Formats: sequence, structure tokens, C-alpha cells
Amino acid sequence: MKSSICIILSKLNLFNKNKKNKLYELFNEAALETLKDIEYSAKFIVIFDEDESFNIQNMIINALKDTGKKIIYNKKIYNDPTKFILKSSNILSFTINADVFMLTVNRESLKYIDMKKVDYFLINDINRNYSYRNNDEEDAIKKIVKSLDNKTKLIVNLDNPYTNSIKYLHQGKTIGYGIKSNEHIKGIDIKCPICHENLIYKSRYFLNFGNYICPNKDFETGIKSYEAKINDSTLEINSKKYQLNTLYYYDIYYLLGFYALSSNLNIPNKTIKKLIDNYKDSTVKKVNNDKNLNLYEVKNGNIILYQKYINYTSCLDSPILIGFSNISDTSSLDLSWLYEIDFTPLKNSKVYVWGTHQKDIEVRLSYDNIKVNLVKKLTDIKENDINVIMSKKEFNELGDLS
Ligand SMILES: [Zn+2]
Repeated sequence: MKSSICIILSKLNLFNKNKKNKLYELFNEAALETLKDIEYSAKFIVIFDEDESFNIQNMIINALKDTGKKIIYNKKIYNDPTKFILKSSNILSFTINADVFMLTVNRESLKYIDMKKVDYFLINDINRNYSYRNNDEEDAIKKIVKSLDNKTKLIVNLDNPYTNSIKYLHQGKTIGYGIKSNEHIKGIDIKCPICHENLIYKSRYFLNFGNYICPNKDFETGIKSYEAKINDSTLEINSKKYQLNTLYYYDIYYLLGFYALSSNLNIPNKTIKKLIDNYKDSTVKKVNNDKNLNLYEVKNGNIILYQKYINYTSCLDSPILIGFSNISDTSSLDLSWLYEIDFTPLKNSKVYVWGTHQKDIEVRLSYDNIKVNLVKKLTDIKENDINVIMSKKEFNELGDLS
């Protein structure tokens, strides 16, 4: 069953993990063997993306298409990407025929990837998102480092101490990026990954992102190959100017990740400029309804995106609606992630809370002295302009009730 037949079976989609039996196990074993024979004529790029935002990837896809290049990529993340890789291969030559093969992964996918064959490995962020499912940052770092190969070029966000620590453990070439800013917000203590002293932040922009150094001087942000400066509505990267279309600090890391990777893929600046100038956060959607709704799409448990939208919507005049009916992982009733988000930016906002866990959210926000209005349905809200921070699925449930 090895090799060609395995690729054919993957393309036919005959096996899936919901039908586990002896035959599936045989197929799986053979598929893993076949994976070793796959050649990547294409540039092989791996992007670590546990936010599942696909923002950097979408920009790379558009940039390559714009320059007439063929790209093969996954639209969702597979814990085991074996079948996707086999499906993408030629049955006879065992080769992936494209200019670029881009695989988006999480920490579980990494053990299936032969890193020796990877040209660029991009890590924009490592965080505690979905902590009940994923353990913590150290767990991700361990899994990444285990999979790294000296031949792979690492493209990494240096402003986050967790991603930066990978640079210290990688023997091969590293390309770093980050923001230059004097802004300074408060945040929780982050320990040096080498000596475990608390890092000293010289500046800090979002959660644990900023410019830092260990008091023992064994760990610091370091020199950035690509550095962004923000001036009103202008984004400057390595002296090149772009239109800044986002108010989120966090999104600038997407733009920087895209810039670093596309520069290394020799994408012309004309194309890079077009994409950065027209950047739009793919998770924000206008919803046509009786009311004027902006849906900021985020699954509960995703701390980064939640924080990003809390910070952003707190600057708007219109009220904010948050809530959820189910915890994303039904095997767990863990709401501790709510306590890792800083809700204080909402202190001057009108906040509505909906869903099964509205009382839990009310208690959480009371710690920050934020009063909330509990609602059962959308029509309980008098205002017409509303910013909804919620998953699409839960937003639909809310719609059903109204
Ligand atoms: Zn240290």
C-alpha cells in the first residue's frame, strides 16, 4: 500500500480519523512511510499559527498570485497534515509541483514535518490561547525546538520573549522582526527563558510584546532585520513607507511577518506595497441586520484576539456586546482564560453580556469595577450601532433568539 497507492487513497479521501479501524491503521502507517519519499520542488514554507488567523498566509497567497506564481496551501490546520501533504503530491513523481508549498501548522502538526526539507519556518507568536487544550508556551517551545533543523531559516518575531527564545535555541540562520516604539503599557511579569529572572521592559505595546532585557544580560530583544515604526497613518519598515490601515498593534506583527517572508521570497516591493496599503483584518465583518453591527470574530479562549478587540472597541463610542453559550472545548469547563485578559480598557464603555456564561463574565468584569448589562436577545439592546465580540457560530445563535 506504500507510495503511489497511498497518495491515490489520500486524494480519494477514503480514510478519515472518524472511522478508525485496522484498515485505517494500515493506511496511516503506509502514509507516514510515503511522506518520507515526498520531494518539494517548491519552496517549502511552514507557518506556525495557533491563532488560526491566517492573516500572514492570505497576504503571501495574494502576493504570489499577483506575481504569477503557483502556490499550494492548506486552508485549515491539521493536527496531522500527512494526508494533506500526500494529496498535494504527484502520484508518480512524489513531488509537490508548485513554486511555493505553504503549510500552516500548530504544535501538534510539527512531528509530521521533515524540517530538513523546509526552507522557511515563520513564528509570529506563541501564546496561551486555548490553554486548556494546548498547555502553555513552554510546551509549544519544546515541540518547536524538537522539530527544528539547522538548514531551516527561522523567521521570528523578536518582540515576544517566547518566540525570541527559539532564536537562542536555533543553530541555523535567523531573520528577526519587531516594532520600534516608546509606548509603555503595564503587563504581567515575564521570566527570562535562560536564568528565570523577571525581564525588564524598556517599552511594551501589547500583552508581553515589547523591548526587553534580562537583568543578567543573557537574553534580550536583539537586532531586528525588519523593524517597523508607526507615525500617525504611516507604517515605515526599513525606511520604506506604507499606508497604515490598522489600529491594532498586534496586526503590525502580521504585516511585518508578511514583509519579512515576502522579501525573502523576492516578491517585488510594488506588490508588497499594494498588499500592506490595502490590509484588512479578515476576522472583522459588517453584518447586515436591523442594526448596524460589526462582528469581531473570535472563539472564546483565544486570549490574543480577545484582547486585541477589547483594546480596539474600547476606543469607539458605540457599545460592546460579548458572551458565549458554549466553552470552545466541551471537555473542559475552564474559564481561567477570562482572567488573563485585561478588561480595564472597557471602564468607560457600555458593555452588554449575553449567553449561558453571562454571570461568569459579570463576576470577572466586576474585579475591574466594570458594570455590565445582561441581555437575552439582540433586541434588548436599544442602540443601533453595536460592536459584537463573539464567534460566528455563537453570533448566529444570538441571531436566532432575537
Ligand atoms: Zn536571564
